[in-house]
Amino acid sequence: MRVGVPKEIKPNEHRIGLTPTAVREYAARGHEVLIEKGAGLGAGFADDAYEACGARIVPDAAAVFDQAQMIVKVKEPQKTEWPRLKPDQILFTYLHLAPDPDQTKGLLESGCAAIAYETVTDSKGGLPLLAPMSEVAGRIAVFSAAETLLKHNGGMGLLLCGVPGVSPARVVVLGGGVVGMNSARMALGLNAEVVVMERSIPRMREIDEATSGRVITRFSSINAIEEEILKADVVIGAVLVPGASAPKLIKREHLSRMKPGSVLVDVAIDQGGCFETSRPTTHEDPTYEVDGVVHYCVANMPGAPPRTSSEALNNATLPFGLALADHGLDALKKDPHLARGLNVLGGKITYPAVAEALGMDY
Ligand code: NAD
Repeated sequence: MRVGVPKEIKPNEHRIGLTPTAVREYAARGHEVLIEKGAGLGAGFADDAYEACGARIVPDAAAVFDQAQMIVKVKEPQKTEWPRLKPDQILFTYLHLAPDPDQTKGLLESGCAAIAYETVTDSKGGLPLLAPMSEVAGRIAVFSAAETLLKHNGGMGLLLCGVPGVSPARVVVLGGGVVGMNSARMALGLNAEVVVMERSIPRMREIDEATSGRVITRFSSINAIEEEILKADVVIGAVLVPGASAPKLIKREHLSRMKPGSVLVDVAIDQGGCFETSRPTTHEDPTYEVDGVVHYCVANMPGAPPRTSSEALNNATLPFGLALADHGLDALKKDPHLARGLNVLGGKITYPAVAEALGMDY
């Protein structure tokens, strides 16, 4: 198959759909890979690295979309890309169609087969193509919190890891899933005191076991949250209720009782945020303050290390992408987990939750 990778054009997006390492795997199976000139530069992958792995560099996005049978990307196609997609072309990328009627219409009109990373499943009921970005975000959340705690960034002037004779920060993580566990382990690695608050008892058992009890786990009741946030120097919001907006676990009225200069990092901001006072921010202007508490609510945290994020994403997407390249849409018949990724086919929505969310036919 001829597989094409355009440069990402969403603002501040520097990740890329295929790394040179992944290109080599496609080429080794006899597939042809077209990369738009300069598409990997933002992630640190030069055109000659792609050529060395067997890719052909093409001058612009038009050449990629015109010639490729499958387009591999990171972010959802932007408005100017919708008309470039063709009937029967496979699009393999993050889509997040449910809140996006305009993009859905663009994909329906194109006639393409759009397979969304975020709805591909695995045998444990997980979302294997979302997990790598949650791992990245969970880890960055701790770096960001450590930076934000510093005085010149608006924080209380605390060194997260402490020094001999001076206590480290107390980090409370709300939600112990992929993001939460990665935050907890990073914070633990920096010697912080770490508390994870969860609703799932099996999950708390796993965290307790994985950290030999060094992370304190607490059932996430209203009472326990109120107790913990008043003692916290940092709170990381990492809850997810599948198919719903994030629950608002910290209300405005709590803030004035928290330590002045404490830091809230809301990783769940892409689902509306789990603090009442959260609003999305950017890497350029990541924080703001409400009632003396500094908020960090960057919506695309994995965009900050595009090289690591592209590599982690490619490790997860590679087997699915190769199956699509080898078998075309027949790959969906062979793998029900990949089939769950199909959101749009031949002008129809094929994913019930997307159709329901948009009030469209399925
Ligand atoms: P996950 O499903 O692995 O974990 C979520 C956890 O929240 C689960 O363990 C669940 O039991 C727990 N939970 C649910 N309700 C709770 C409550 N009331 N109190 C405590 N815990 C509760 O999800 P994840 O992959 O860790 O993702 C977490 C959030 O981070 C999602 O909203 C995801 O979209 C978001 N995310 C954001 C970014 C970003 O750049 N901002 C990047 C990746 C993921």
